[in-house]
Amino acid sequence: MEIRVRYAPSPTGLQHIGGVRTALFNYLFARSLGGKMILRLEDTDRTRYDERFVENFYDTFSWLGIHWDEGPDAGGEAGPYVQSERFELYRKYALRLVDQNRAYYCFCPQERLERLRAERAASRSAETGYDRRCRDIGTREAWDRAAGGEAHTIRLKIPLGESTRFHDSLLGDIEWKNDDVNPDPVLLKSDGFPTYHLANVVDDHLMRISHVMRAQEWLSSTPLHVIMYAAFGWEAPLFCHLPMVMGNDGKKLSKRHGAAGIDEFRREGYLPEALINYIALLGASYVEGKDLYTLEELAANFSLEKLNKAPAVFDYKKLQWYNEQYIRMKSGGELASLCLPGAVEAGLFGEAGKAPSKAEEAAFTAAMPLVRERISFPAQAAEKLRYLFAEPQAPLAAEYIPKKSDLKTALELLGMARELVPALAAFGTDGEAETFIREEAARRGVKPGDLMTPLRAAVTGSRVSPPLAGSIRILGAEKTLERIDRALSFLSPGADSGKAD
Ligand code: GLU
Repeated sequence: MEIRVRYAPSPTGLQHIGGVRTALFNYLFARSLGGKMILRLEDTDRTRYDERFVENFYDTFSWLGIHWDEGPDAGGEAGPYVQSERFELYRKYALRLVDQNRAYYCFCPQERLERLRAERAASRSAETGYDRRCRDIGTREAWDRAAGGEAHTIRLKIPLGESTRFHDSLLGDIEWKNDDVNPDPVLLKSDGFPTYHLANVVDDHLMRISHVMRAQEWLSSTPLHVIMYAAFGWEAPLFCHLPMVMGNDGKKLSKRHGAAGIDEFRREGYLPEALINYIALLGASYVEGKDLYTLEELAANFSLEKLNKAPAVFDYKKLQWYNEQYIRMKSGGELASLCLPGAVEAGLFGEAGKAPSKAEEAAFTAAMPLVRERISFPAQAAEKLRYLFAEPQAPLAAEYIPKKSDLKTALELLGMARELVPALAAFGTDGEAETFIREEAARRGVKPGDLMTPLRAAVTGSRVSPPLAGSIRILGAEKTLERIDRALSFLSPGADSGKAD
């Protein structure tokens, strides 16, 4: 069987986690079996349509790096892939069902349907949907009225008293009584526009879709679709309804749980690799004990058998963990390009918005190894590295003093550390610098940690900072010595040492 799957978004909202998960699973499924992934824009709902959502769609997926084989932008022989460009086709197929007595013209005006709804609500009737009033109008009369220009819709004639069965790859065999299916739903509206059901089924057939993998919220539409396939005399595709994605309160994932739109995650600094990796795990498992996957590895290991029936719970902490992992995998240059916009915005190189000079940019790139293990989001790099680009405020004297020590000793230690600076600034790696510090500390009979404490406070303005040797290397001996000298004079007896004592 030729494997052809599709992602069929409606441009009526921004792309969110659930949609991307559906797209991703279809993509992985197609890749895992050498099949084709098709993109189809289901833009039949013109009232909720917005061009912005189409743009958001393309933008999101190109950022995520998910591509399709056929689609509005990729072309293909089953196009056009935008439903609004296929309206004639839907009309033709709706009329075919009328011809075959599997669908009928309905002349009920909107007001009647609204009245029906209101009456049922008032009498608390359990009945919903259309009351099939036009179902039994004779063919002749119906043709005449339609030909005479009377407004009408086309409704599917659901066979009553029967059941509809289909197999879902995840949920198993499913059987619905036809009487429980939405009674005779509209296929073609009075303005000639198709409904989702008609366009979706016609297109899945014409585009030769082999597997329909979609969110579980569409499960209740599937019996109807299966009835339509039978009415047309077409073979239905195989169905797989994906498990729901919930927030940690057990409710369907939405805004109230935090970000749900991909745009928001992107703005917050999540990397596409982290999102893909995490979303791919929402309802599926791959290799036991392995957490990190490239898109290729996911595709190589994806299979319908490894989908979970239970709803997936979206865990923001876990996603953040993935972000941290992917940040750690970036080279200095890659990470710098990710972190630079936030640093510029945060005014790391002067006033907010000021771009770095060549030298500053080089220093920023060189500083990436200092923060790679310490940030969850690119925007956090700027604050962590501010001391490299602007003289830090001198901390309180107490900050310079190692544990169980005093100011006098701190001053001595800083004096000792000062002597090490030219060598520290010249080392190529942290490893060499650390060995050197250890040896020098031993030679002078002090603890390496004690030697570093006042030096760190003088150079970075804090007791806690990114690696000191690396910082000194980037700052250079001259600037480092200036900072030490300033600290020495600030801390020396007689100087105004703030709240030192
Ligand atoms: N256009 C529908 C949606 O927005 C597609 C549902 C389906 O995959 O059949 O999700």
